[in-house]
Amino acid sequence: MKTSVIGYPRVGTLRELKFASEKYFRGEISAEDLQTTAKNLRAAHFTAQKNNGTDFIPCNDFSFYDTVLDTAVLFGAVPARYRELGLPALDTYFAMARGYQGPNGDVKALAMKKWFNTNYHYMVPEIDDDTVLSLVGEKPLAEFAEAKALGIQSKPVVCGAFTFLKLARYTGKKTAADFAKQAADSYGALLAKLAQAGAEWVQFDEPALVRDLTAEDKKLFDALYKTILSFKGSAKVLLQTYFGDVRDCYKEICALPFDGIGLDFIEGRESFALVEANGFPDDKLLFAGLVNGKNIWKNNYAATVAAVKKLQRTGAEVVLSTSCSLLHVPYTLRHETKLPASCTAYFAFAEEKLTELRELKEILSSDAPEKNAAYISNLTLFAQERGGKNPDVQAKVAAIRKEDYTRLPAFEVREAIQKERFRLPLLPTTTIGSFPQTSDVKANRAAFKKGEITKDEYNAFNRKKIAACVALQEKIGLDVLVHGEFERNDMVEYFGECLSGFLFTEKAWVQSYGTRCVKPPIVWGDISRDKPMTVEWSVYAQSLTEKPMKGMLTGPVTILNWSFPREDISLRECALQIALAIREEVLDLEANGLKIIQIDEAALREKLPLRKSDWESDYLSWAIPSFRLVHSGVKAETQIHTHMCYSEFTDIIPAIDSMDADVITFEASRSDLQILDALKANNFRTEVGPGVYDIHSPRVPSVDEIKTALKKMLKKIPAEKLWVNPDCGLKTRGVEETVPSLEHLVEAAKQLRNENL
Ligand code: GLN
Ligand code: ZN
Repeated sequence: MKTSVIGYPRVGTLRELKFASEKYFRGEISAEDLQTTAKNLRAAHFTAQKNNGTDFIPCNDFSFYDTVLDTAVLFGAVPARYRELGLPALDTYFAMARGYQGPNGDVKALAMKKWFNTNYHYMVPEIDDDTVLSLVGEKPLAEFAEAKALGIQSKPVVCGAFTFLKLARYTGKKTAADFAKQAADSYGALLAKLAQAGAEWVQFDEPALVRDLTAEDKKLFDALYKTILSFKGSAKVLLQTYFGDVRDCYKEICALPFDGIGLDFIEGRESFALVEANGFPDDKLLFAGLVNGKNIWKNNYAATVAAVKKLQRTGAEVVLSTSCSLLHVPYTLRHETKLPASCTAYFAFAEEKLTELRELKEILSSDAPEKNAAYISNLTLFAQERGGKNPDVQAKVAAIRKEDYTRLPAFEVREAIQKERFRLPLLPTTTIGSFPQTSDVKANRAAFKKGEITKDEYNAFNRKKIAACVALQEKIGLDVLVHGEFERNDMVEYFGECLSGFLFTEKAWVQSYGTRCVKPPIVWGDISRDKPMTVEWSVYAQSLTEKPMKGMLTGPVTILNWSFPREDISLRECALQIALAIREEVLDLEANGLKIIQIDEAALREKLPLRKSDWESDYLSWAIPSFRLVHSGVKAETQIHTHMCYSEFTDIIPAIDSMDADVITFEASRSDLQILDALKANNFRTEVGPGVYDIHSPRVPSVDEIKTALKKMLKKIPAEKLWVNPDCGLKTRGVEETVPSLEHLVEAAKQLRNENL
């Protein structure tokens, strides 16, 4: 029995890569310093895996920003506007990732999208008709050599050709199929070089295979790999899939000359059935993804052993693997000093998952697993009652009535009442909620957490920040204001900390995009709200202004999607528990004079099943009702906003409309406003604020740029329904770019109001 890791986290157990990168961006350290940090991290990760006896250790899973971006650069898909900046390679790379504004030019970043059903984001490769794909980089070779120098025979991992071509955006007339030959030759060239360098195995990640495939997709895949595999020489090739099952192409991939196929048995609902019904080819190894790469709960050894045995009975030669890259879980439990052992006993982060792989390997290789100490202690753990149950919460969920999911009166009636109540100008301006989390805000929180200042001192500081934020917004001339969210470290963690049922870690960071990491809470038990969570802040902020202040909440689906969920109750049950808690907060805000309440569902789209056929039954059937339950109790004149990140919801627009919010804002500037046509085609009824500029990048948009974006929007959206706002919250931005950006935004709206709409 051998073990394999699909990919390892790369930012460092204490986010060393993030901090070094940010220093580099600020010009505080050199490129060499940054490279040294990166190299040390890679060495630490290789070594951790080696010390744990992992047989297939990945390399080239490291990235300064994103591995899809790395792949684009590796094969020369660098759009001209970035090349023309004339920057050194590393800076060109960062310009693609983050945009660039400086002496060499002014360009926006590439589009960024969520990586399948995760909260990780990849940079969307951009391919135009003149793009020529060819092997121009050597990152996988360099990292392979680096591991070798440490005495480690690693397995280079590359985003596969099919997934790469499927994820790319084609800006000209050509499509993926037009680049198939170039891509296949380039990947082939890479494979040949890796084989020459001594790579025994090369892993191509093809998660795009777990989505619905068309006949054309299958043809493309087949054509790509017929060529690529002809270059493999002495190397063996592992086709690695994850995040679902490969029901559309199982037979086809089995027929190709791969040496290993990696299947996900955690998220792949039909993976077992596929292997059992069709058998598994004898000339290949089955890399069985049975150690969950996405959740933090300990592996149930008895279940995993049974699963491996079941697979072995089909005749398959099994390698035990993680179900996906460990990038999606935190590094280590070692830094968690505050959680009681009675809780941590149930957790396994990346390092602990390496231990699980090692223990499972021992158990599976032994003749008497029931005598293995690790096996026995795991059995004991799973036989125990875990705690965290709350019968009151369960009763409340059971008592939800059908009518609780519907807000009355109907949208159109509310819209008229609200227009009358608020009398906002045409194209009202607002922001998404957070204002820059400057170092003083973070220092205040840190001091409070360390017990250096009292709760009153902590609150007093935040109130000062709120007052300044409100004054700033009034000065800038925004129409609907926010308090700035200074009391929140994170939009999910904050609520998790206020609610009962969640557990928190100290250092369990997970990469979200680039240098941004999040620390997802863990849903430990039944969830309830013991007291108001945001009312004081919002009421104070409203008291400072005549303009409407938005109360700011995070919605149940996002709280759940950005936490590590329980595995002992359904997601639906858990979402409804959270929804009931947030509903209480909504009603408290309304009762305390907040006229507008925004309930963010930033992550609503994220866990949408990757196959369309599963959307309704597996997800939308509980996600949308959970949101509706949160706001169905408010009065007609209370305006409910929601916000979603990433406008990739063209295909679920009716579902978004049926969330029945009054206004929705969302990210749009990075995806060329493609969503607008879909809104129009679906007669979208909710008022909308497609973001007019990209807040993930430090560049300042000009008034004209914003006006151009708004004019485009006005072609598709009636002026009476259009709001003007940035893409997302401003917390990661600096004050110096935020103020001019918002000034430009307000100015653009004002100019347009004066032009004949
Ligand atoms: N209200 C949140 C903020 O502004 C929304 C963040 C998000 O959508 N990710 O920070
Ligand atoms: Zn957002």
